[in-house]
Amino acid sequence: MAGRDNWDTGKTMSSLPLVFSAPHRGQPPRHLADLPAEQRAEAVAALGEKPLLAKQLSRHYFARLSVDPAAMTDIPRSARAALVTELLPPLLTEVRAVSCDNGATSKSLWRAHDGTLVESVVMRYDDRATVCVSSQAGCGMACPFCATGQGGLRRNLSTAEITEQVRAAAVTVRDGGLGPPGRLSNVVFMGMGEPLANYRRTVDAVRRICDPVPGGFGISQRSVTVSTVGLVHAIRRLAGEGLSVTLAVSLHAPDDELRDELVPVNTRWKVAEVLDAARYYADRTGRRVSIEYALIRDVNDQPWRADLLGSLLHRALGPLVHVNAIPLNPTPGSKWDASPKQAEREFVRRVIAAGVSCTVRDTRGREIAAACGQLAASDR
Ligand code: SAH
Repeated sequence: MAGRDNWDTGKTMSSLPLVFSAPHRGQPPRHLADLPAEQRAEAVAALGEKPLLAKQLSRHYFARLSVDPAAMTDIPRSARAALVTELLPPLLTEVRAVSCDNGATSKSLWRAHDGTLVESVVMRYDDRATVCVSSQAGCGMACPFCATGQGGLRRNLSTAEITEQVRAAAVTVRDGGLGPPGRLSNVVFMGMGEPLANYRRTVDAVRRICDPVPGGFGISQRSVTVSTVGLVHAIRRLAGEGLSVTLAVSLHAPDDELRDELVPVNTRWKVAEVLDAARYYADRTGRRVSIEYALIRDVNDQPWRADLLGSLLHRALGPLVHVNAIPLNPTPGSKWDASPKQAEREFVRRVIAAGVSCTVRDTRGREIAAACGQLAASDR
């Protein structure tokens, strides 16, 4: 096919197997945030304490963002230690944090109970503050341009390991760590891992993030984005959860031949099936779907691919789609590079000309390896 002759397929990089089920490893300790609100009272009662303390404990965690027993003055002193030890165990210890973009972006590296490393990134904008969370340690989807994908899958994160990244970010934003004190407003599942391959825990985490205080953090569902390589069955399942979260699909190529290489899960579910599932999601939820497209020089940035992308998306989703063009963030040692600005502009112009809304994503965190696909790669 046109455009294929001038790039090396990088076979050695893309030959990793697809891994859908995480290796069985020790689970992190149980945590309040693993439990739906109704089960928290039972858990507190099982510790021999009054069930209504569950609400107080939830308020400390989800509203005050605190796990400090000394601050829990509305809980009898005698009960605090046991409740905190059993239901708010430390799950993630910060190994280090680095910031850039004049202090508006901060990346944290976390160590879990078993030594597993994960990262999250907080980004402060004028009108919002966003945390990019990891849903798995590593990733089994083997995308050759993604640093996480090249490292394989270590394990799924628990629901509370995901909400802990959100809580830490909310504390940073509240306490003015990234500029004027504010409120964490957005959560994107675009850190390490394939969220829909850790389906149950991801959906539970979304509920904890969005449930009203004190059951959850009270962040609007519309301000949460779940990004996927395109696990078709899981997209359809997510459409039935009654959630209004934004679905982002990492397409990166409009044709199966190239997408088979760039997003190896395409060998299971083709572009047309992924777009069908995206349409189903948009119809069920009324939410516009985001399409992620990392522009890679001479690989997927040809004018004809822009035209094909535009016409496919227009046909499949009409007004229910927005394309985020992302300049490739080259991973160390990769022979691939971002598209030149001129090619990027032309690509976007053509997609828009096909009647599809399209913008170039502002990329934060490049100089601290906090941009797409680089999380924790340097610490393996
Ligand atoms: N597994 C999910 C979510 C994690 S990655 C998914 O694939 O959607 C979040 C986004 O960053 C995806 O669109 C992914 O393809 C993109 N990405 C990964 N590595 C990148 C890189 N080096 N440059 C630009 N985007 C990248």
